[in-house]
Amino acid sequence: MLTSINPATGDTIATYEALTDAGIEQRLARAHAAFAQWRVSDYQTRTALLGRIADAFEADKHALAEIATREMGKTLKSAIAEVEKCATAFRHYAQHGPAMLEDRRFDTASGTATARWLPMGPVLAVMPWNFPYWQVIRFVAPTIMAGNVGLLKHASNVQGVAAAIEATILKAGAPAGLFQNLAIPSAKVAGIIADDRVVAVTLTGSEGAGMAVAAAAGKALKKVVLELGGSDPFIVMPSADIAKAAATAVTARIQNTGQSCICAKRMIVHAEVYDAFMETFIAGMKAVKAGDPMDAATDMGPLSSAEQRQTVVAQLRELTGAGARLLFGGEALPGKGAYMSAGVLVDVPLDDPVANEELFGPVAMVFKVADMDEAIATANAVPFGLGSSVWTNDAAEKERFARDIDAGMTAINQMLASAPAAPFGGVKRSGHGRELGPYGLHEFMNLKAVME
Ligand code: NDP
Repeated sequence: MLTSINPATGDTIATYEALTDAGIEQRLARAHAAFAQWRVSDYQTRTALLGRIADAFEADKHALAEIATREMGKTLKSAIAEVEKCATAFRHYAQHGPAMLEDRRFDTASGTATARWLPMGPVLAVMPWNFPYWQVIRFVAPTIMAGNVGLLKHASNVQGVAAAIEATILKAGAPAGLFQNLAIPSAKVAGIIADDRVVAVTLTGSEGAGMAVAAAAGKALKKVVLELGGSDPFIVMPSADIAKAAATAVTARIQNTGQSCICAKRMIVHAEVYDAFMETFIAGMKAVKAGDPMDAATDMGPLSSAEQRQTVVAQLRELTGAGARLLFGGEALPGKGAYMSAGVLVDVPLDDPVANEELFGPVAMVFKVADMDEAIATANAVPFGLGSSVWTNDAAEKERFARDIDAGMTAINQMLASAPAAPFGGVKRSGHGRELGPYGLHEFMNLKAVME
């Protein structure tokens, strides 16, 4: 049984019967059969379907967004924006997908080698609750364009969203079996990865889930893409627009109530501008309004669950016990929902184990640094390497940050956000492989050399 609980109220929204083994088998057989048809579909058929799915998401965006808000607490306005973004991903692959799959020809000693992108088969996606539409759609859109078929194991607490995604894709005219939701607990994932009909797996989530899925994929010799956590640095140098940087830092930290893999989690500020930055940043963080996520005036809703809030509160307790100072906030708010206040931590000992964990809540760590070398060393001091945001108007500094920050993404003078056209993913313990752009499309394809 999978249960959705509204984190704003603590009330149970719905329970979902988990699939039986026979139900899983039926869906795997359907995926296998659907692939036999879809792999030979022409690009026009695929792009037309992508366009219809984009229309369907746009048409239903309010209803879809409400399901996400109720199940995991994000503000309704951000949930609507998330569904709209999903439509842009479908349209991106509809428009640019065929060009990404064009053949390339090379001369060889005996003639030519043509590199052709061919589909591989059913791919399993294990997805998290934090962007319950977007995380799934950035897998589904390229899957459809590739000629593959998709199977989804969504997080247990967002099964309403999972069912809505399947229904929306079917309503848009997708053939049966092209995309199927598997309502299953995580204990069933390894068996599905081992199944011969499944060719690969992609996971977004925690390091623990990543290790379990990668181990299962390794055992079955199957490809895996992992998008795990992050502890993204947000670096502010003296030449930056400090007021803009500080205001953006607030948004970057509290977006999705701090529960984004690419949230700016560690503000690393040059000593020369530290006081000016802190004045605006602290005022901004103190002004953040936590409240009913359905209310348009709310800045941030509750955390996704009481357990998630408990995790963050325990991490803060450990950090303050190890010498960090919580300037304000970071407290569980009284009442029924899983609300907490935004907060700021300083003097964080970077060698504490918790300082090396992902802080999935609305509390920023701030570090004062003497120069660029110290900024880069601090940025790279954690085991993660997902995103980063750097604020400087000095050309040489921009170049050095782009080159030397160990991360899959560096945003300059802007908040980092994913975009359908840009590769998305990390290095170090943030995972491997890329989503989105041509790179995400190619991850689960067979690049065949045809020699003639
Ligand atoms: P998990 O990593 O546990 O969940 C993500 C997905 O993986 C869910 O579908 C989950 O299913 C599944 N899963 C979990 N364990 C396994 C396993 N052993 N084998 C197969 N699948 C598995 O995230 P949590 O919700 O527990 O969050 C914990 C922490 O993870 C957060 O505090 C945050 O630090 C990080 N996280 C990072 C995300 C990101 O975007 N990078 C997203 C979500 C979490 P089920 O729900 O059924 O357990």
